[in-house]
Amino acid sequence: MVTKAAARSTRPAVRTTGRRAPAVGFVSLGCPKALVDSERLITQLRSRGYDIVSGYEQADLVVVNTCGFIDAAIDESLDAIGEALAHNGRVLVTGCLGAQPQRILERHPKVLGVTGPHAYERVIAAIDEHLPQPHDPFADLVPPQGLRLTPRHYAYLKISEGCNNRCSFCIIPQLRGGLQSRPLDEVLREAEQLVRAGVRELLVISQDTSAYGADLRYRQVSWEQQSYRTKFLDLARALGTFGVWVRLHYVYPYPHVDEVVALMGEPGVLPYLDIPFQHASPAVLRRMRRPAHAEDTLRRIAAWRRAQPGLILRSSFIVGFPGETDAQFEELLAWLDEAQLDRVGCFQYSNVAGAAANDLDDPVPAALKEERYRRFMEKAAQISRARLAARVGQTCRVLVDAIEDGVPIARSAGEAPQIDGVVRLRAARGGARRPAAGQFAEVRITAADTYDLWAEPV
Ligand code: SF4
Repeated sequence: MVTKAAARSTRPAVRTTGRRAPAVGFVSLGCPKALVDSERLITQLRSRGYDIVSGYEQADLVVVNTCGFIDAAIDESLDAIGEALAHNGRVLVTGCLGAQPQRILERHPKVLGVTGPHAYERVIAAIDEHLPQPHDPFADLVPPQGLRLTPRHYAYLKISEGCNNRCSFCIIPQLRGGLQSRPLDEVLREAEQLVRAGVRELLVISQDTSAYGADLRYRQVSWEQQSYRTKFLDLARALGTFGVWVRLHYVYPYPHVDEVVALMGEPGVLPYLDIPFQHASPAVLRRMRRPAHAEDTLRRIAAWRRAQPGLILRSSFIVGFPGETDAQFEELLAWLDEAQLDRVGCFQYSNVAGAAANDLDDPVPAALKEERYRRFMEKAAQISRARLAARVGQTCRVLVDAIEDGVPIARSAGEAPQIDGVVRLRAARGGARRPAAGQFAEVRITAADTYDLWAEPV
């Protein structure tokens, strides 16, 4: 989640033009996809001459980019709107929760306007209406790669909007519509600008990365005298030529992922896959209406690991889905034992207003959900501890994210920012120079705990 504090760190320098530019405060909630929406919006606002400010008091108007994925996120979004109204009073709401305007207006009738997700033009039009600002070339200080809310050395690269799947627990397709892939040459142009601006790691995001380009019938494009199809495999191949880390998120285990795994190495497509499996029991996956639910995922994982022995797998799961029996939960734990995933997150199932799963029979009682969650996390922690311990003694390349209390906090190919653990660098022997934030370093792993690693430069 991006907070107002994160937005503060990206406040752009403002050239003084003799008059104060209208100031917009921005509160960005939710997943990396929402974060990219926020970045696009603040980029457009800066290019139109608005100032982006971090505090409610300095802002002439506040935009709250909401999340509407689960009930807890909806509550957080409604609270954030209330806070912005209390401290500023002039509030526009956008993002996933904006697809349910009545829900927002019931609780906060004083908001100036509500737009749905990725409705950039409508948000800009609403801001223009409530806070007019003619374009001012002297205030137009936007770099070609746009403005971002992430550190300078990594960036999320959103390749598509929406989703063609219909998972029964999810309302994203209702909120964001069907799959709309960005043309491959447009994505590559953005990647090129980001790399030119100093980005060392591109994080590919979407709702369903494996489906990329299906809606464009895998249109052929030309890039750097090469021909590519607008397709996941070709996207990975093309991004792999940029000489930076490329990390793939939200991949479903469709057959063509095997070909992407074969491309992995460094620099280029990292040996890391983020695959939201959600469950392992075929019966539960069918009720969830998950894409690729008929795949024999254990066989696929074994084949990927044979092809890429260093492959790191991350996933997320839901326990307590309606109708999940004891036997199906045990099946999940046994699957996890065999799959030996490196990084794992877990949610207890909860209803989301408008989701088809709300109508399923046999809800799992809250205490049982809690117990299954605890048992799942214990198993995942055991596996994580063992897999990180096996990395002690290995050398690898890390990218330093920040220096905290003098300690470089870094990540290897095996850790994505924000969601996985970190690699803490100890002082180098022989007084070797300590790497700075945004730099790569070669290190030897010296220790591990359940989620994090320690290393020293070599
Ligand atoms: S793949 Fe399923 S969970 Fe993910 S956005 Fe699409 S419908 Fe929702």
